[in-house]
Amino acid sequence: ARPATSVLSARGLRARYGGFTALDGVDLDVPAGRVTAIVGPNGAGKSTLFHCLAGTLRPARGSVRFGSRDITRLAAHARTRLGIARTFQQLAVFPSLTVTENVRIGAEQGRVIDPGAVERALRLLGLDGPVRALPAAGLPTGTLRRVELARALAGSPRVLLLDEPAAGLDSAEVAALARVLGTLAADGTALLVVEHDLDLVAGLADVVHVMTAGRIVASGPPDRVLDALGDREATA
Ligand code: ADP
Ligand code: MG
Repeated sequence: ARPATSVLSARGLRARYGGFTALDGVDLDVPAGRVTAIVGPNGAGKSTLFHCLAGTLRPARGSVRFGSRDITRLAAHARTRLGIARTFQQLAVFPSLTVTENVRIGAEQGRVIDPGAVERALRLLGLDGPVRALPAAGLPTGTLRRVELARALAGSPRVLLLDEPAAGLDSAEVAALARVLGTLAADGTALLVVEHDLDLVAGLADVVHVMTAGRIVASGPPDRVLDALGDREATA
């Protein structure tokens, strides 16, 4: 197997909203060329973990590293510049801008400004047809999720954080998404995916972490971890 160099890592992350502890000591490694998945019930802290990794929430304790660099106090836009790209659970495209313009913003905010990366991202996500000239407003959810992903890719990221990328997609769209994510991992990108669709996780992830109440309670290859999860839910 290829060596799993950790691109992004977290140690001892704690996060609070007022008096409520949403992350309670999370350690995580996100290696290059692998798909790392996080599953767990609503409210487990998955999105909070993403916010701490992306820089949109400051942890109360613990650290985040990008390679050997401590980025715990680095602002979100500076992390994007380093090559940490994300999509949001709630879609965040600019409705009045066209598909191409939305994707171009990703290139301008990213690690390197490469106009070729915009075209590659549009093509990879199947957005290089007439849809590219349409305003994002009114496009179907599946298309908007592809716009978001293309925008994240247009900055040539090293790490891609995807919060529920399959939400609202039909099964053909999920299959297409899985192909794209597999391609990105094969090209060396480090992927971290929070996802409810356990079939997608089982087919795609190299490692799955199960989060409950702000902690990672199980980790391992999907066949082992998801079977244990199924058994636990069956007996709950
Ligand atoms: P998940 O993504 O796993 O569903 P979240 O990270 O969104 O979980 O939320 C974890 C917990 O933190 C939940 O109990 C949620 O209600 C709470 N929470 C999330 N965001 C906020 C916020 N901005 N203010 C207060 N509580 C929050
Ligand atoms: Mg969430």
